[in-house]
Amino acid sequence: MARKFAGGKLVVASHNKGKVKEINSLLKEYNATTLSSSDFDIKEPEENADSFIGNAEIKSRYTAEYTQLPSLSDDSGLVVPALEGAPGIYSARWAGPEKDFALAMERVRQELLAKTGTDNGHRAYFVCALSLCWPDGHEEHVEGRVDGTLVFPPRGKRGFGYDPIFVADGYTQTFAEIDPEEKHRVSHRADAFAQLVAKCFA
Ligand code: IMP
Repeated sequence: MARKFAGGKLVVASHNKGKVKEINSLLKEYNATTLSSSDFDIKEPEENADSFIGNAEIKSRYTAEYTQLPSLSDDSGLVVPALEGAPGIYSARWAGPEKDFALAMERVRQELLAKTGTDNGHRAYFVCALSLCWPDGHEEHVEGRVDGTLVFPPRGKRGFGYDPIFVADGYTQTFAEIDPEEKHRVSHRADAFAQLVAKCFA
């Protein structure tokens, strides 16, 4: 049996205000009072695991130990099977220090061309791992996913990251072209949160 969150304070292990706000609104109805890493003098630990869940767990474990409160963290990225899973856990790093996702998407295209001779039409999926850790070290995690196809050149100005090259199954527009509300309904993050709520909050 998974452990349930008993209500009260929950630290979102992130300094990203947008992420914290979104998680706050998702978990409000489950008596969670969310705080974030920014409310504590806490550094981000090095994410050196070899999986999304491993990296999420490093952050939630570190934050729970430091704050002595239940802590929730996420790790996400784009997986391209034709590239042996790249960029995967390195999705953010492919954008370089300037966080240039035009560069990251072009690298995906160039590597697909070099490996397969084609850029368009390759299968891909986004992953979102969530890890919830308590101060006693107990940890629960889930992994959400949305499958789709890659398109080049990138299309659309909404969303972020690799959204302009990702068309989810059942759609013709990229994640950067569809209504953001629609994306949030079907995304890897929505899938992960639905799983986590069912497991630990409902
Ligand atoms: P994280 O913040 O370490 O989890 O890094 C996630 C990275 O994966 C982001 O910088 C994006 O490159 C990519 N990513 C994750 N989710 C999405 C999404 O919904 N759309 C586009 N890119 C995403």
